[in-house]
Amino acid sequence: MAETDIRPTNFIRQIIDKDLAEGVHNHVHTRFPPEPNGYLHIGHAKSICLNFGLAQDYQGQCNLRFDDTNPEKENIDYVNSIKDDVTWLGFSWDGEVCYSSDYFDRLHGYAVELIEKGLAYVDFSSQEAMRELRGTLKEPGKNSPYRDTSVEENLAHFAKMTAGEYPEGHCVLRAKIDMTSPFMCMRDPVIYRVKFAHHHQTGDKWCVYPMYDFTHCISDAIEGITHSLCTLEFQDNRRLYDWVLDNISIECHPRQYEFSRLNLEYTVLSKRKLIQLVEEQHVDGWDDPRMPTIAGLRRRGYTPVSIREFCKRIGVTKMDNMVEMGMLEACIRDDLNQNAARAMAVLDPLKVVIENYPADQVEMLSAPNHPSDESMGQRELPFTREIYIEREDFREEANKKFKRLVLGKEVRLRNAYFLKAERAEKDEQGNITTLYCTYDADTLGKDPADGRKAKGVIHWVSASQGVPAEVRLYDRLFKVPNPAGEESFTDSINPESMTVVQGIVEPSLVNAEPGKALQFERLGYFCKDKRADNLVFNRTVGLRDTWAKIEGQG
Ligand code: ATP
Ligand code: MG
Repeated sequence: MAETDIRPTNFIRQIIDKDLAEGVHNHVHTRFPPEPNGYLHIGHAKSICLNFGLAQDYQGQCNLRFDDTNPEKENIDYVNSIKDDVTWLGFSWDGEVCYSSDYFDRLHGYAVELIEKGLAYVDFSSQEAMRELRGTLKEPGKNSPYRDTSVEENLAHFAKMTAGEYPEGHCVLRAKIDMTSPFMCMRDPVIYRVKFAHHHQTGDKWCVYPMYDFTHCISDAIEGITHSLCTLEFQDNRRLYDWVLDNISIECHPRQYEFSRLNLEYTVLSKRKLIQLVEEQHVDGWDDPRMPTIAGLRRRGYTPVSIREFCKRIGVTKMDNMVEMGMLEACIRDDLNQNAARAMAVLDPLKVVIENYPADQVEMLSAPNHPSDESMGQRELPFTREIYIEREDFREEANKKFKRLVLGKEVRLRNAYFLKAERAEKDEQGNITTLYCTYDADTLGKDPADGRKAKGVIHWVSASQGVPAEVRLYDRLFKVPNPAGEESFTDSINPESMTVVQGIVEPSLVNAEPGKALQFERLGYFCKDKRADNLVFNRTVGLRDTWAKIEGQG
């Protein structure tokens, strides 16, 4: 697909343009800051395309920084999968990969600085007591009895916390801001807690770990980030972001801007929920082709171009909304229609015997890999006396609208001959078991001389030369547009999100590249599964948008 090469405009680009024009900055430096506690999903792709895209367009830089302050929930597999997904999407970060944990020493120093300035204190209140004192959105909070401990005592307590002398949950370090603030995040937020956890980067060096809000702004400042972009739920936290940077000795003060997160219909985009789907085995791992993860989309046959194009089309705003799955599918369809090789497969096979074709002959026909792109070349297609066609492509009787095979009538077999249906053999239940046909040897690549017309064109696969394959047909993972809004989102999982059929595919597909989507003529886009040992194809997307139709049926 030709990616739209028009530069998007959005409010963030307007801010950057203004900053550059006014000399606030002379360059752009962004970052993508995932927490390595799960695989990336399509929502993250929006943030990746935004951050890396800005750096590209303004000849700036973009860091990949792991926000790794929660060792218990993080691991190195997640780190690696995230690097892999960002690269696959077509982006490269500037310099080495960064980790917030690279800054643990400095973060600790800044915490000490806040204590020294009387702006942080160690609180020994129970969690329950802290919760009660915090107040509510309507009621202001109340000061903790530990709020006025002396600087010296606080320094000693924090040193003990750091040395592992207090058990987990016994005390926390809190910023001393304002317990009456209308912003809950400003009511003396916790900035350090005790955790005896092994960290994937720093090992057992620390038993105190900084909290996200304290870490994020300082990491941005250390890296010289100019525009720190995050999703709207952090809007209130911007006060805390600025408060921390205003109160420690650090030169750089990045500005935070918030944009709306991507919500996609009929799926969930929250790592917590995706983890649950994996752990409770509702899906077959993070890269199950039904998952909205980058790894899942990739295994399903989505291309990096199609995902980048999707992110372009949805744009960046401050408005929360729900994007239709059809938007994402339109992007992959546009790409594959232009770029996917064609092939033939039959998913519901009906045996056809061509009675006037020699029994042992295997004729190698040549078929174009793409109807309008000759550069994609040709492939060999074996034609034989026995072939399979799609069961629904034959009817004993039908009106004119049925442009396929009917008894006594002719169709063209794609890339091959005219075929005429002579008689159908049935079993005791009346199901057709074999269809007997004849072919016209003088119709390969040309119409019959007498001007006869075929009713339509159908696909087929040689019975003796074709290869059996398992084909997995995917549907939406959830039955409702907004599963996250349900009391228990797993109750709304679509039990028919995957249908497995046994089909037969043309022999060239045995060597298909895993993950690279092809068009099965008249059926949709499919790619060879990269995990299965046997021959398995995943349906990437159908040929047409069927969602609108399903919607209409309620
Ligand atoms: P989740 O809610 O799925 O757990 P998260 O925000 O906790 O996501 P992070 O790893 O912290 O996940 O996210 C990294 C970056 O990606 C953040 O800047 C975050 O704002 C952004 N991001 C996460 N989800 C979305 C989304 N649905 N749309 C756009 N950006 C997102
Ligand atoms: Mg997060």
